[in-house]
Amino acid sequence: MPDTKTATGYVLPPAAVPTVAVDGTADRFPVRRILCVGRNYAAHAREMGRDPDREPPFFFLKPADTVVDNGTDVPYPPLTNNFHYEIELVVAIGIGGTDIAEDKALEHVYGYAVGIDLTRRDLQLAARDQGRPWDWGKGFDRSAPCAPLKPVAKAGHPGKGRIWLAVDGAVKQDADLSELIWSVPEIISIASKSMTLAPGDLIFTGTPAGVGPILRGQTVTGGIDGLGEIRIQIV
Ligand code: MN
Repeated sequence: MPDTKTATGYVLPPAAVPTVAVDGTADRFPVRRILCVGRNYAAHAREMGRDPDREPPFFFLKPADTVVDNGTDVPYPPLTNNFHYEIELVVAIGIGGTDIAEDKALEHVYGYAVGIDLTRRDLQLAARDQGRPWDWGKGFDRSAPCAPLKPVAKAGHPGKGRIWLAVDGAVKQDADLSELIWSVPEIISIASKSMTLAPGDLIFTGTPAGVGPILRGQTVTGGIDGLGEIRIQIV
């Protein structure tokens, strides 16, 4: 009888690869890492009490397994009394690289999606003000809902277009992708100077102004022109 425990070479069953749906196919996009850009719209930087001057962008990460599909129920997370939505353009990396030049950066993109960077704002701000890492505010279970990716062949490279979010139908965020402080090619180039980007990396590119709290029982919808919409329910 074969030894099933060692047949795969692991002492435990390896965790499933997190994935995102791809528009128009049953095949899925395997997620390696989730990078997020902080404060990439001037009006949002201001509402967070920060100067939107074009200082270099900064990044934080969420665990890859925080990604969940469009339509997922998201339990109100523990430890917070100020649970926030952040609608964002998500870039999916298809070809990896290090030190990617800005004028070659878009060649590395597989596609784009609408995502929500769910945030325990109270924990994030407490960490920020104490000079501590943001992880507990950003990297909790199901904190990265992502709608189906649209490959570049279908979506092109959206540089402008409405980005919006509504809670129970009331619009809370309403902006345009052209307001991004750091563009997608700039973000890819800068990130790749710090770490090797690889196929499967997702980059959440930052949220516009209008962030705010969500409660159990509320429905969050959002969209980006040309990329479709996302919907989650807080349970
Ligand atoms: Mn964000």
